[in-house]
Amino acid sequence: MNLYNIIDNSEQVSFQQAVKQGLGRGQGLFFPETITPLDNIDELLAMNLVDRSAEVLSHLIGDELSKEAIHGIVANAFTFEAPVKKVTDQISALELFHGPTLAFKDFGGRFMAQCLAQFNDDGKITILTATSGDTGAAVAHAFYGMENINVVILYPKGKISPLQEKLFCTLGGNITTVAIEGTFDDCQAMVKKAFDDQELKQAIGLNSANSINISRLLAQICYYFEAFAQLDAAQRNNLVVSVPSGNFGDLTAGLLAKALGLPIKRFIAATNENDTVPRYLAEGTWSPKPTIATLSNAMDVSQPNNWPRIEELFKVKGWSLSELGYGKLSDEETKSVLKDLDKLGYLCEPHGAIAYSELTKQLKDDETGLFLCTAHPAKFKESVEAILGRDIFIPEALASRADLDLLSKEFPVDFAKVRELLMSL
Ligand SMILES: *Cc1c(COP(=O)(O)O)cnc(C)c1O
Repeated sequence: MNLYNIIDNSEQVSFQQAVKQGLGRGQGLFFPETITPLDNIDELLAMNLVDRSAEVLSHLIGDELSKEAIHGIVANAFTFEAPVKKVTDQISALELFHGPTLAFKDFGGRFMAQCLAQFNDDGKITILTATSGDTGAAVAHAFYGMENINVVILYPKGKISPLQEKLFCTLGGNITTVAIEGTFDDCQAMVKKAFDDQELKQAIGLNSANSINISRLLAQICYYFEAFAQLDAAQRNNLVVSVPSGNFGDLTAGLLAKALGLPIKRFIAATNENDTVPRYLAEGTWSPKPTIATLSNAMDVSQPNNWPRIEELFKVKGWSLSELGYGKLSDEETKSVLKDLDKLGYLCEPHGAIAYSELTKQLKDDETGLFLCTAHPAKFKESVEAILGRDIFIPEALASRADLDLLSKEFPVDFAKVRELLMSL
């Protein structure tokens, strides 16, 4: 698989290089040079998740990795299901939260970890990530127990939910978590400093498990095929997929699945009040506003970093952006949609509810709707319980960690201390 840098096409890399490097020159994103449609979709749809995903990824990655190697990576990464649940006669939910950290980021995080382990031929790797919650948990669990890989996660002390902290700060082993006495921006600034420190970078084999990594997107393509496989013939006709979007990685993966030949009729990009993309699609001008805190906080992004990939894909496929649906929802509307869903017998959380709401507004009579449920409702326990006015069930993966001791170190905002820690691992 060859990829090029979207802003500097002369930079071309292999899949392995793109995974290790993350971003290209000038912060450019890598994009596949060719996306050849699959000619055996029906055959693929009859397979199970792991076999089918290995086929699809092998088609994309090519001979850089053997089919057996890819099958092994996928079998280790996708150890949980992605069930489609019927919500109304016309609309179903694709549940992507049955992995170890209860959010769809487990798919990309675990696949990327397995790829890095496979590609690691030059000794030690240190993954350094700043998190405001979900990504840190997915990365920690994905790399837990891997040989020659150390993971260090910085997060703002007291600014993530207690359950979320328990989820990834109780692992130990090769996972080191540091509660920083500052904000998420302070954490991110220290990560940037580490990547600017060439001596440190060399000494510890620094890598970020960043969300723009191409391996994450490839993994996410697979669950669009999985969803389609679970629908019956009538539902597959005129399928509209609504995607709750923040950095737009999930939507990019869906569009790549369509480019590979999966017959999805159209997509809807659903956001919260951070609506840079819906405004862009409506008015044609890109004008990000300051980020607003909302109930669907994993989508509080006003400069979505995967958007250039979507523009590139529409360009190379000759598609028109006018075919992409869009919509945004306020917190007040989100609360009322969550209650509507609850009345239908479907317990959801704010991100999924936003995607569902856009389907109810935009779906035509002869279409079938599918919306992505990106996180387990228990991950947003406090807000979901307050909105619905009742307690909700906490799954074992979360409940079992609640009583464990936190193993985090506590540091002030002091890069020298973080550097010292990184060098000592
Ligand atoms: C990360 C995340 C999103 C946004 O996904 P993007 O790929 O960044 O658009 C939506 N919902 C949840 C729960 C998330 O964790």
